Parts: sequence; structure tokens; C-alpha cells
Amino acid sequence: MKYTHPAPDPVVAPVRGSDLQFPVHRIYCVGRNYVEHAKEMGFSGREAPFFFLKPADALVVVPTGTIGSIPYPSLTQNLHHEIELVVAIGRGGRHIRAAQAHEHIFGYAVGLDMTRRDLQNEMKKQGRPWCIGKAFDHSAPMGPITPAKQVADIEQAGIYLTVNGQDRQRSQISKLIWNVAETIEHLSSAWDLQPGDLIFTGTPEGVAAVVAGDLMEGGIDGLGALEVRVS
Ligand code: MN
Repeated sequence: MKYTHPAPDPVVAPVRGSDLQFPVHRIYCVGRNYVEHAKEMGFSGREAPFFFLKPADALVVVPTGTIGSIPYPSLTQNLHHEIELVVAIGRGGRHIRAAQAHEHIFGYAVGLDMTRRDLQNEMKKQGRPWCIGKAFDHSAPMGPITPAKQVADIEQAGIYLTVNGQDRQRSQISKLIWNVAETIEHLSSAWDLQPGDLIFTGTPEGVAAVVAGDLMEGGIDGLGALEVRVS
């Protein structure tokens, strides 16, 4: 095969406790999937889940025991953290029923849906796409993927984020408006899910700004911690 320019390296995420790498296909994200976060964004009630995407190469993989680094992005004065449970799809499918969704899950990870909130809000106001607020370079730091069979009960796990050691976000996965299985049902009715797809499932309340130099530490019970510095 002759290419016009060198083909990009595949985007991969390490699998915890093994030497396997998980090749990433797409990054789907769920909007406003915890009641208290929906409220802090000015919404209430259970709306149908909605989705946006980040490019796969926005992923910043942070191996266990290391501190990742993301540059403070351009154009924003209000970079927000959103700690999220990430679901890694191992088997694709379309029109997957919630009752069968677990058969399609390879594993779980801790992720950050970094957001240029000022730009996202401006796009919302103008009815324009969120890409510039959500889908920028380095906007998706993520820890290693823990295989689902090694996770006791993800729906009962706690989720937290601290910044410089101070609590910012603390909740439970059980508070998801649309749980993991329901999210897969909805998402797979709109797109054919593929092995390698990642789903950022939404963030609990407490989203706020970080500045250059801040150290974010997030975690989910059973999945370990994710440490990322803004540089
Ligand atoms: Mn989010």
C-alpha cells in the first residue's frame, strides 16, 4: 500500500493487569446523565439520552502509577473537569437490548471529559455544534481499561474527583439517569457499535474550572485512580 503521507499510529489504551492493548475506534459521550449535574447546568427532569463525539485521537492515555499531562487548551478562559465512567465496547452490534448489553462490554475505565465551558455555552446559545467546546485535542484523558469480569458491580461503585487534594466531585454510578445498559441500548439504535468504541457515560455534579498547574485526581471503586496535571 502506498500512502500520500505516513498513516497515523492506531490509538490504543492499555488493559489493566495484562500486556494487551485495546485499539480505540470512536469516543461517544453522553450529555447530562446525572440529575444533580443536569440541574447545575440549568436543566431538570429525565430527558432522552443525547450524545456527542470526541475524535479518537483526543484520548490521552495515562498508565497506572503515572501522572498524565494535558496542555491548557487555546481559546478558553474556563476549562472544566468532568469525571466519568468510561465503558469499553468489546463486541459490536446494532439495536442492542439493555438486557443483552453486558455481552458487548469489554471493560471499564476512569475518564475525564475536559470541556471548554465558555465555548460550549456560546455554541449552545447560538444553537451551534459543541465540537469546539468538547472535541478539542487532549480533551479525553483516560486510565487503563479494567476487564469487566474483574469488576464486582460497577453500578454500585463510587466516583470522585479532587483538584490539588480538594474534593470537587463525589457521587455514585447508581445515580446515572440512564445506566450503562440503557445507554448502550439507546446509542446502538443510532450508530452501529464497533469493537473499540468508548462511551463516556456522563459526569456527576461539581464540575468546575482548572488552571495551569492544577493536579486532578479522579477514581472509581474497582478501577483505580487517574491523575492528570494541566500544564
Ligand atoms: Mn461529560
